[in-house]
Amino acid sequence: MNAQGPKAHVVVVGGGFAGLACARALAKTKDVRITLIDKNNYHQFQPMLYQLATAAIGTDDIAASLRHSLRRHANVEVKMAEVTAADPKTRTVTTREGKSYQGDFLVLAAGSQANFFGTAGAKENAFPLYSIKEAQRLRSRILTVFEDADREPKLTEQGALNFVIVGGGPTGVEMAGSLADMIRFTMSREYTDLAVKHAQVYLVDHGHALLGPFPEDAHDYASRVLQKKGVKLRLGIGVKEVAPDRVLLSDGTSIQTRTVIWGGGLSASPLSATAGLPRGHGGRIDVRPDLTVEGFPGVYVLGDFANIPSPENEFLPQLGSVAQQSGAWTAKNILAEIAGETRTAFHYHDKGIMAMIGRNAAVAAIGKKRHELEGPIAFAAWIGVHALLMSGVRERVEAFVDWGWNYFSRSRAIQILDRADVCHIDWGKETESEDLPSKSVQSGR
Ligand SMILES: Cc1cc2nc3c(=O)[nH]c(=O)nc-3n(C[C@H](O)[C@H](O)[C@H](O)COP(=O)(O)OP(=O)(O)OC[C@H]3O[C@@H](n4cnc5c(N)ncnc54)[C@H](O)[C@@H]3O)c2cc1C
Repeated sequence: MNAQGPKAHVVVVGGGFAGLACARALAKTKDVRITLIDKNNYHQFQPMLYQLATAAIGTDDIAASLRHSLRRHANVEVKMAEVTAADPKTRTVTTREGKSYQGDFLVLAAGSQANFFGTAGAKENAFPLYSIKEAQRLRSRILTVFEDADREPKLTEQGALNFVIVGGGPTGVEMAGSLADMIRFTMSREYTDLAVKHAQVYLVDHGHALLGPFPEDAHDYASRVLQKKGVKLRLGIGVKEVAPDRVLLSDGTSIQTRTVIWGGGLSASPLSATAGLPRGHGGRIDVRPDLTVEGFPGVYVLGDFANIPSPENEFLPQLGSVAQQSGAWTAKNILAEIAGETRTAFHYHDKGIMAMIGRNAAVAAIGKKRHELEGPIAFAAWIGVHALLMSGVRERVEAFVDWGWNYFSRSRAIQILDRADVCHIDWGKETESEDLPSKSVQSGR
């Protein structure tokens, strides 16, 4: 620390909602110098990944350059690097290239990754949806099966146009609605030689209701809307294995498919294993109410990377608004520490939970009492809350709001197969026959 310059150096790992909100809030004071490290040079807006995966929007609609977002702050440096280890005692992180960054304060906000819960073959064969790269890969797979089946219609009999979504939470439900819309409104118009009507979306969950964290009416609403869109619900059934050409279910049946989309749960990103900090539920780092870690002065952990205690004695959910608010709160606590004042416990302002179930349908449970909204009014609430989240990242949210209303009213599809290289399918490769269950195997017909 020096008398003329900034009083402290803060190293922030992760430029998601949490890390970026923290860096932006800190950057307003000349008392600190900030180094923001992210493995990508952009911020990704995860709530709209499924729209990217279903080709309803393009990558630059939901990615924002971190350098551009922070360009007005001379006291922030952005470094694109993957942090592979941390020493929380000295508040130092080390990158894959072996470079180290040490701060007076260390903020870890490295987010989540898919949790496959040890399901056989899921890591190798399923498509998770937690980053832009994963959404691009999934979009390419969806477009690949349509292109391949258009060229060789017999592939439909091998389940080419079957899509299986694992998980009936918000991610699975939103993906199912969006994919069903894509098939109905876009693919049926663009693939005129192909019997697109044979395309089938399945949603599998071992629970008996969709949208678990929402009020009961929302469970029924989501089921009704998805079934109306033609989605086949397989509830109360678990996934035993994801093979390259099918998914095996706990009731002994299987579904032939080349596209299994994993919305089955999340855990902390891999850095949590090498961060030298106590890990709790979901591999996340257990933090105190003020977002610091017991025994490690100057270390803050936030957003999806942390188990943040809530007043109800549970943990706060993994949500963009929790992440963004915890980022701003961390900045406030760091500035308090620098000024010799006391840190305060994080107070989350709960705006509610919402899910968009495709065109014309959404549910929102607003406020602590979870007042339920459905249909267009819930859709408008979704747009409002997410525009606010987006405004933390981009200056022009009008484009996002425009997109929302376009999505509501008409198709704006971008069927560009730009990652064919990562999504090639070997149609000759089938699971060995002795591995197959004896009961029904559903093809696309
Ligand atoms: C499909 C989907 C839909 C969602 N929908 C909603 C919704 O509708 N509403 C809502 O509120 N929330 C939603 N969420 C949840 C919300 O997006 C997350 O809670 C939020 O993004 C968490 O913010 P974060 O900053 O903690 O982590 P992230 O946004 O994941 O950011 C983590 C950052 O850390 C970087 N990083 C990770 N590891 C390293 C490393 N080792 N080195 C360097 N950088 C690293 C990543 O590149 C990333 O930029 C959704 C999530 C998903 C996946």
